[in-house]
Amino acid sequence: MADIINIGGVPISPGENTVVKISLGKLPVGNQLNMRVHVFRSLNPGPVILLTGGIHGDEINGIEMLRQALELQLFENLNCGTVIVIPLVNIFGFISFTRDSTDGKDINRSFPGSPHGSMASRIAGIISRQILPYCSAGIDFHSGSQSRFNYPQIRFTGRHPSGKVLADAFNAPFSLIKPFLQKSLRKIAFDMGIPILVYEGGETLRVDPFVIKQSMDGLKKVLNHLNMTNFQVERQENILLKRMSWIRAQSQGLFYPTINNGSRIDKGQLIGWVHDLAGNANTAVVSNTNGYLLCVNNRPVVYSGDPLFNIGIP
Ligand SMILES: [Zn+2]
Repeated sequence: MADIINIGGVPISPGENTVVKISLGKLPVGNQLNMRVHVFRSLNPGPVILLTGGIHGDEINGIEMLRQALELQLFENLNCGTVIVIPLVNIFGFISFTRDSTDGKDINRSFPGSPHGSMASRIAGIISRQILPYCSAGIDFHSGSQSRFNYPQIRFTGRHPSGKVLADAFNAPFSLIKPFLQKSLRKIAFDMGIPILVYEGGETLRVDPFVIKQSMDGLKKVLNHLNMTNFQVERQENILLKRMSWIRAQSQGLFYPTINNGSRIDKGQLIGWVHDLAGNANTAVVSNTNGYLLCVNNRPVVYSGDPLFNIGIP
């Protein structure tokens, strides 16, 4: 680890805790947008861990968990190494209740980004060029898009051995081997040799205490594993899933799931109903595979072909 790291033009020495504001430019009405980067450095060398929330501005659970972690001063007295926290990457999306950035672009499909691009590309570029080069690993906190509630899970690549070790350390209820999305933070970090876990929990525009507790506990377990902290936190059963499969609506209408998220599911099991308003026909939703329920669509109005459930398969 370099002795001094320099983020946003601010040199930060070992033993120093500070907040750097990186300018993202101005809103059209003139307000300045700054991305706040919290840096916590032990005097002792060690891993440099990046924690990011709100790359998708409407996924609030990760933003709130990192806010709570800062309020609880979790990173103030590290045994070794450095923690870099960006609780809210996509400020514009957060204040406008949307996933994307100003230009309708997804920051997590804009890496490595460019200082000359539009907002999403610039933000990705700041993380890629000013922050990632210092990092040895990271965790990126997400929620299910739209009204799809993800049961707490860690996503990692089987192509990076240390990613599996970190996923095991995080000890979420489920760990899912998931291929990279092109131009994502996880992919660009992998290309730089940096394993980044993606935590998925809850749904957009909601905070969920169980989802937040699972992410906080997992973060503590990862930092303990890296000998950076000594938190008291209990381990739990973890199930490894190798792929996932969507179950889609066979008809349109009002959707009612009849099974709890996170449950074990058998092939052929009844897991929900779609009620057609016009014909008064009720269509059973039946699982086409054995596995575990990783995601439930909480939006009741569905069209034929809409995703209803995501099943994780061991
Ligand atoms: Zn997301």
